[in-house]
Amino acid sequence: MTQTKTDINLAIDAQNLRRVYASAGREVVALDNLNLQIPVGKFVAVKGKSGSGKTTLLNCLGGLDSPTSGSIMIHGRPIEKMSSTELTDWRQKEVGFIFQAFGLLPTLSAHENVELMLRIAGIPRRERSQRTDEVLAMVGLEKWAGQRPYEMSGGQQQRVAIARALAHRPNLILADEATGELDTQTSYELLDLLKSIARDENVTILLATHDGLVDEYVDEVMNLVDGKLHA
Ligand code: ADP
Ligand code: MG
Repeated sequence: MTQTKTDINLAIDAQNLRRVYASAGREVVALDNLNLQIPVGKFVAVKGKSGSGKTTLLNCLGGLDSPTSGSIMIHGRPIEKMSSTELTDWRQKEVGFIFQAFGLLPTLSAHENVELMLRIAGIPRRERSQRTDEVLAMVGLEKWAGQRPYEMSGGQQQRVAIARALAHRPNLILADEATGELDTQTSYELLDLLKSIARDENVTILLATHDGLVDEYVDEVMNLVDGKLHA
C-alpha cells in the first residue's frame, strides 16, 4: 500500500490549483497556484470581486470543473483520480450546492423541489418524504412546503435551495453568492442559518461572495484576488 499524506480533519485540501481558460485566442488564469485548507465543520467565506475566480474555485472543489493542474482532496479523497461515474456518485452523496439564482424548478412546490434531489440521490421514497419535512423545518419553511417558488420571497426561495442542498446529508456545502440577490436583512438571516447548519450538522460550508456582509458570521474569511488567495 502506498502511504499518502491525508489529513482526515481537513474537509478541503487543495494544493497548487491552477485553472487556465483559453478564451478568444488568449489565456485567462482564473486560479493561480492556489492553496486552500479547510478543517471539517468550518464555515468559511471566500471574498472576491467579480472575475476573481470564485465560481471557478467552487466548481473545481465540487467536481463540476477540473483544474488545469494541482490536486484536490476532499475528506482525504483525491477527486481528480475519480472516474466521471465515481465523481457523479460522490457529488450526489457528499456535496450540496447552493447557487445565487436559487435554481429551483418553477412548477414544483418547495417539498417537491427538495424531494426531487433525494430521488436523484437514490434515497427510498419513505425516507425521502420524512427527510424533506425535516430539512424544510430546519430552514423554517414547514408551513410553506406546498408553495411554488413564485409564491415565495427571494429569501424563502433561497431557504428552499438550502434545504435542498442539505437534504442528502452532504458533508460539504458549496454556496456560490448564495446571498447575492437578497437584501441586507435577508442576507443576515440566511448567513445565520448557514452558521447554525455548519455548527449543528457538522457540515463544512464554503461561501463565495463579493460583498462584505459575511465577516461576523463565518469562522474565517479569505480574500481571492486575481485567482490568488490571501488569508
Ligand atoms: P467570479 O466567480 O469570482 O466572478 P469566475 O470564476 O467566474 O469569477 O471567473 C474568473 C475568471 O475566469 C474571469 O476572468 C472570467 O472571465 C474567466 N472565465 C470564467 N469562466 C470562463 C470560461 N468558461 N471561459 C473563459 N473564461 C472564463
Ligand atoms: Mg461567480
